[in-house]
Amino acid sequence: MAKLYFRYSTMAAGKSLDLLKVAFNYKEKNQDVILFTSHLDNRFGEGKIKSRLGIEQEAIAVNNSVDLFKYIDRLNEWPDCILVDESQFLTKEQVIQLTDIVDKMKIPIICYGLRSDYRAEPFEGSTYLMLYADTIEELKTICKCGRKATMNLRVVDGMPVFEGEQINIGGNESYIAVCRKHFKRAMEEKAYSDLHEEE
Ligand SMILES: [Zn+2]
Repeated sequence: MAKLYFRYSTMAAGKSLDLLKVAFNYKEKNQDVILFTSHLDNRFGEGKIKSRLGIEQEAIAVNNSVDLFKYIDRLNEWPDCILVDESQFLTKEQVIQLTDIVDKMKIPIICYGLRSDYRAEPFEGSTYLMLYADTIEELKTICKCGRKATMNLRVVDGMPVFEGEQINIGGNESYIAVCRKHFKRAMEEKAYSDLHEEE
């Protein structure tokens, strides 16, 4: 039975590395894998999935207008597995298209994505993957304090930022995976310190 998997996490929890590892395992068995990643602008075509460890692989970059079911259905040969990076950016319709691929073509799909944005608001793609996936798994990483990180802190020029557009391309910013307590503390104090704290 093919299944739709959703593997979610914060930023920098090793999603892309896990995805590339799965792709490698399929290829080692001479099985075909299709890799999708998201295009935040209107281009459709070549993309790359990169891991922070330096490993990368070509992927098909899709924007919100691509019908993923039709895309796979038109291929001469269907893949053995489909891997989707940045799946938080999918639309609700695209998530349902993925379920059609699983149910009608019997192709397993593993989606990787963020649970929430830097404002602690949901993404459309991950929200509907939470609702439609057969199996939901968390890839864990830790905050500086040792607790599990569940939130993404956006830092621009050293200052935490909690308002703005959901998607920000470019700019002098970084994201830090933090626990809820440190996310809320950064919100209250409007500062984020890397100093070690007692609790
Ligand atoms: Zn913490």
